[in-house]
Amino acid sequence: MNTIDSMERLIYCFSKLPGVGRKTAERYAYRVLELDKEDVELFAKSLIETKNNIKFCEICGNFTEKNICDICQNRKSDIICVVKEPKDIIAIEKSKGANYLYHVLHGTISPMENRGPNDIHIKELLSRLNGISEVIIATNPDVEGEVTANYIAKLLKPLGVKVTRLATGIQIGSDLQYADEVTLTKALEDRKEM
Ligand SMILES: [Zn+2]
Repeated sequence: MNTIDSMERLIYCFSKLPGVGRKTAERYAYRVLELDKEDVELFAKSLIETKNNIKFCEICGNFTEKNICDICQNRKSDIICVVKEPKDIIAIEKSKGANYLYHVLHGTISPMENRGPNDIHIKELLSRLNGISEVIIATNPDVEGEVTANYIAKLLKPLGVKVTRLATGIQIGSDLQYADEVTLTKALEDRKEM
């Protein structure tokens, strides 16, 4: 493979990343040429190692390099915070006083995309309720997030678990840049019973 092909391939790889168009991908590729060889090797190695080593926690579904994540391993709490994706945990952990256990659904219920309750990790949540006093549902306040939250609330309430929802219309996850720590902390503090 000649140099041009390598560059084209690298540009193609960068353009796979969110928010990176052709122009930016080209800029990144040319920047790689200017980096030290060690840095480029570290970059390549980190990409592969991350993909190979990171798996999902057997209990909560968070990212981890072990079978059980650090939060499940070390934290004592009787509150489970339910989120759509692992990256939402990072967001909530930044809020003040966050000391919850988590449960990652790995998706939301979406009739439009033909995704039902059995396609996301709801069953796994039901098996974790022993000793839990409250479940905070922190899915995004979009249609799918609300449908999912209502579905879970209906399932849990008859089981005697308090179910709450974030107070304000905060987008976590991909829209986290709009939800600063203070706002997220407030939304958690002011959570409402469903
Ligand atoms: Zn875990």
